[in-house]
Amino acid sequence: MTIWKKNLQKPDEPKPAVKTNLYLALKKEIKPLHGQGEPPEKVPTSFGRYYCDLCNTTLPIEELRQCSMCGRWVCDSCFTNEYYICNSCNGILKLYMTNEPAGSG
Ligand SMILES: [Zn+2]
Ligand SMILES: [Zn+2]
Repeated sequence: MTIWKKNLQKPDEPKPAVKTNLYLALKKEIKPLHGQGEPPEKVPTSFGRYYCDLCNTTLPIEELRQCSMCGRWVCDSCFTNEYYICNSCNGILKLYMTNEPAGSG
């Protein structure tokens, strides 16, 4: 008599990336400041430099990153690499993660 091991389903391990439904909920919540692919705001007084939408540092475009959530162009220190979003969205995301809305009302 042969006993076959059953394939036990492993519980879902938490992933570091944003949950898709959470991401979508946030996308509804956050109004994008710039469309994806839209350029950042130019600094009128210095050529080739652009504003970080969060701290207003001026940087060349290659040092700015666009938030995939709100479209803000931000500098490295205003960007959350983990989720590819800006620190502002990351703050909202953290609120959502710790306090996920129970339902729609
Ligand atoms: Zn910044
Ligand atoms: Zn953002």
